[in-house]
Amino acid sequence: MSTTSVLVKDKKCGTCEYWAGERVISRMIDNKPHSISVVSGSYSCAVQAKKTIQGTGTCMKWKKWCSL
Ligand code: SF4
Repeated sequence: MSTTSVLVKDKKCGTCEYWAGERVISRMIDNKPHSISVVSGSYSCAVQAKKTIQGTGTCMKWKKWCSL
């Protein structure tokens, strides 16, 4: 399975609460999440039903993933 790295500070689909694909926190710095490994591919979004998204996508409805 290929993945993409997304920085925690970036407001992208991979760091969003509504992301439906697999992801794991891949790097910690000073005991804080720094980056996330997000599965490559396209997924539907619960709050953007008509939109097909990837981990690097963005939108105005972004909400921080509760695990961050
Ligand atoms: S499309 Fe918007 S709401 Fe959906 S996962 Fe991406 S940033 Fe979050």
